[in-house]
Amino acid sequence: MPTLETLPFDNAFARLPEAFYTRLPPAPLPDPYLVAASPAAAALIGLDAAEIARPEFAQAFAGNRLLPGSEPLAAVYSGHQFGVWAGQLGDGRAHLLGEVAAAGSGWEIQLKGAGQTPYSRFADGRAVLRSSIREFLCSEAMAALGIPTTRALCVVGSNAPVRREMMETAAVVTRLAPSFIRFGSFEHWASRNRPDELRQLADYVIDRFRPACRDAANPYAALLADVARRTAALIARWQAVGFMHGVMNTDNMSILGLTLDYGPFGFMDAFDAGHICNHSDDHGRYSYRSQPQIGHWNLYALGHALAALIGEPEDIQAILEESYAPTFEADFMDLLRAKLGLARALPGDEDFVADTFDLLQRQHLDFTQFFRRLGSLPAAVDEALRPAVDAPLRDLAIDRDALDAWLAVWRARLGAEGRPDAERQAAMQSVNPKYVLRNWIAEAAIRAARGGNFSEVEAVLACLSQPFAEQPAFERFAAPPPDWAAGLAVSCSS
Ligand code: AMP
Ligand code: MG
Repeated sequence: MPTLETLPFDNAFARLPEAFYTRLPPAPLPDPYLVAASPAAAALIGLDAAEIARPEFAQAFAGNRLLPGSEPLAAVYSGHQFGVWAGQLGDGRAHLLGEVAAAGSGWEIQLKGAGQTPYSRFADGRAVLRSSIREFLCSEAMAALGIPTTRALCVVGSNAPVRREMMETAAVVTRLAPSFIRFGSFEHWASRNRPDELRQLADYVIDRFRPACRDAANPYAALLADVARRTAALIARWQAVGFMHGVMNTDNMSILGLTLDYGPFGFMDAFDAGHICNHSDDHGRYSYRSQPQIGHWNLYALGHALAALIGEPEDIQAILEESYAPTFEADFMDLLRAKLGLARALPGDEDFVADTFDLLQRQHLDFTQFFRRLGSLPAAVDEALRPAVDAPLRDLAIDRDALDAWLAVWRARLGAEGRPDAERQAAMQSVNPKYVLRNWIAEAAIRAARGGNFSEVEAVLACLSQPFAEQPAFERFAAPPPDWAAGLAVSCSS
């Protein structure tokens, strides 16, 4: 097994021409200490979990000690932020160390928060402990939920002060992904009228990650269709688990369809389709209900950027119309059927799913608890026993008559399938998580970590790595927000 010193680096991105990035080392972080590490992420790059305990581990992932074979660089990209063209952005606080070879496409290792780069604009190149813990925990939680995402290897902290709304301390989160290329990486070259670089980047993505696109009449059209389908599949999964990204700018959209750039994200507690998890998003552009259409908007921006390689606007539009909405709708319905315990697709399912969201919205039911508890109910129940049997769900409801009416429809729909209860209940528990990274859980772990106690971060990581399992030791993490968390707000500041 490789050690820190023998990781097999093979840095494909660094072999692209220099126009795509700037080579520069991370800025050292004073007196770094390990806050948390993910053994599952370490395994992805073949790193022995014992390496985590070495002092060199924190030094390496603070950016203080270069790993042999790494070639640090910051990549350039541009993008649309909140619907407005923002021009050049780029890795303002991220250093790509290189790519560790693995079966398949390999894993790029990136330090986030390791100092300024030519793309930092007026910012300090740092990340704070709070946002680094949030990104670390959510990356690993999403992976365990089976949702495509960049991964997180570790968080390293330091007592170096960093100014945000208040003074905080610095940290570096180490991320892993096959690639961190964004929609905005393509928009960058299109906006500068540089078709050669645009094509080079598209060829890089196709050759390394989507070789099947080469067989198409127009490989770039095939790439756009692939990105559209993956983005649709990704956002369907976000909606089904109640995840809100918070900043779906095109520079935060992965060309591989991964969840990328965790900032002011949130998981739905009491359901509200209009919920805005990002305190800085005044108009709710990225609210829960808007996410699917924003995905579409962002794909138009990508399609427009790829136009020089694909053809006329009508061609781009045709590709997106064929790929995005149909994939989203099919995936979303499949996911919701599974959440509701329905094994087969039947006419009327769309209406039933709409009625389900209506129920959630009217009663502001806790999204995670609702589906999890539903999974424990029997398909048939004696009328006299019904209030007691349905109590787990009825206890969540304000309007119990409305819930009872919905349950009657649900049971009739289950009756049409006749699947044994035990089989259906097990299937539901395997898709409806008991544990998600609610804001209050992240906040509690951050508060403990600020006080020097990292065990809560570790506990949350352990719990969320098995989100579908009953874990009596972590029952507390299944709870909706406690009173102290009522006013928690997360913003773009990270
Ligand atoms: P984000 O909203 O985090 O996706 O960041 C948007 C852009 O701002 C990206 O180019 C980031 O690299 C850059 N950026 C955000 N925070 C910082 C920071 N503290 N220092 C340097 N660049 C930053
Ligand atoms: Mg970003």
